[in-house]
Amino acid sequence: MNYCFGVDIGGTTVKLGLFEFNGTIVDKWEIKTYTENEGAAILPDVAKSIASKMEEHQMKKEQILGIGVGVPAPVADGIVNGSANLGWKYKNVKAELEELTGIKVKVGNDANVAALGEMWKGGGQGNKDLIMVTLGTGVGGGIIVDGRILGGFHGAGGEIGHANICHEETAACNCGNSGCLEQYASATGIVRLAKKALAESSEDSVLRNTESIEAKDVLDAFKSGDALAVRVMDEVGEKLGGALGIFAAVVDPDAIVIGGGVSKAGQPLINLIEKHYKKYAFSLCKDTPIVIASLGNDAGIYGAAKMVL
Ligand code: ZN
Repeated sequence: MNYCFGVDIGGTTVKLGLFEFNGTIVDKWEIKTYTENEGAAILPDVAKSIASKMEEHQMKKEQILGIGVGVPAPVADGIVNGSANLGWKYKNVKAELEELTGIKVKVGNDANVAALGEMWKGGGQGNKDLIMVTLGTGVGGGIIVDGRILGGFHGAGGEIGHANICHEETAACNCGNSGCLEQYASATGIVRLAKKALAESSEDSVLRNTESIEAKDVLDAFKSGDALAVRVMDEVGEKLGGALGIFAAVVDPDAIVIGGGVSKAGQPLINLIEKHYKKYAFSLCKDTPIVIASLGNDAGIYGAAKMVL
């Protein structure tokens, strides 16, 4: 029997999975991410954890097809050029981890890798051309074309959170530009729009009595029909649906997968995105299914494993 490892390196934890070559998960665990000293301990910790897991399952190196790794940064040729979340500056992740483990390594951007995971075993199962949007603190994206991650020249392929969708925006995005999708469709963006709407009117809203507003409060208010929250979310849906319409004209996906914390709002959110998407998408793409991601936090380890298999 042959196996592989899927590793999803995040800013607080590293998630790891041991898979059989057919995709059955054998074991799943987490270790802490130590970001001190420019994240120098992260890859050695991963290597140690994998070694002890191989010992535990009495596996030989020859049985391991490879280690797939997702990292929160653009990746080109296994190399990361700076990751704020991990403290890394220049890091040749592929070369270092291969040196540490003696096993073949493949590296990808975490959002791209999650998209691959969702295509393989999640909400996009059975599809080959996929757009995945992760609506969390920021907006991540992953694009799969003909079953493969679209990484691009700089590793910036699928960075759809920083696609400019509003030329008039004056507030700045984390990336330094203004008017990025992330400024509207992320959890942070939703809160920003809600606070703006509250400040601009004296309209009654349950959000007015909410101590410190979080995206979940806005989404709950939206679902319960609060007029101000409905208006705020309609703007989110308009921006996101419109952006997906543009991406669909480039990719022509067979499915669009929505993931991340915000996607927990479920079908009402999908209906909202769909309403606006249909308005803007090219005729042939209008009926492309928009679905919720189903692997949650495990999408990364599944996708990382799939890179190897
Ligand atoms: Zn941006």
